[in-house]
Amino acid sequence: MTRLILATRNTKKVAELRAILADAALPHDLVGADAYPEVPDVRETGVTFAENALLKARSLARATGHPAIADDSGLCVDVLGGAPGIFSARWAGAHGDDRANLNLLLAQLSDIDEPHRAAHFACAAALALPDGTEHVVEGRLEGTLRHAPSGTGGFGYDPILQPAGETRTCAELTPDEKNSISHRGKAFRALVPVLRELLG
Ligand code: IMP
Repeated sequence: MTRLILATRNTKKVAELRAILADAALPHDLVGADAYPEVPDVRETGVTFAENALLKARSLARATGHPAIADDSGLCVDVLGGAPGIFSARWAGAHGDDRANLNLLLAQLSDIDEPHRAAHFACAAALALPDGTEHVVEGRLEGTLRHAPSGTGGFGYDPILQPAGETRTCAELTPDEKNSISHRGKAFRALVPVLRELLG
């Protein structure tokens, strides 16, 4: 069975991508980047989600000799001109401090009322082959930002993003419900036909 590397060391993300890709029943052995501890993490020097996703996928495909897929994602707030965007994970300074990032964003938007609280999650999903072939697709989840967090599921900004047409936040959805509408779900489902075409 051909190996397909998921270019992330985040075990929650590996599980989420496995769940999303399970429906596609790809004839591949999905392996997280943790299986390759000797491969250094790539610096995310890109200025778009697509550039950063490609950097991560390309680095693992070259280092392992196997096809690799990677994603890069974040929250884009209309009234902030698309920020935090690619800086979503470190908006409050320290990388990955979800609660500090969310609290800073809520404080910045405290005077902003409906209908100016529109935002979306964006995700770029990239496939890179060892021969240099590359493909990238994008997905979005549109919604509005709550004034206070609600829900305990998910991660990151999930407790404040209420998807369009929903009464709950992303943190109040089940994992399956979130995957079915999420930016990451949409991007990876869009990548499936590309995987089938390029990997057979
Ligand atoms: P990355 O794609 O792992 O680099 O994610 C960047 C950051 O974007 C995360 O740390 C979160 O703050 C935010 N983010 C990306 N996807 C989601 C999501 O599905 N829910 C909540 N926050 C997200």
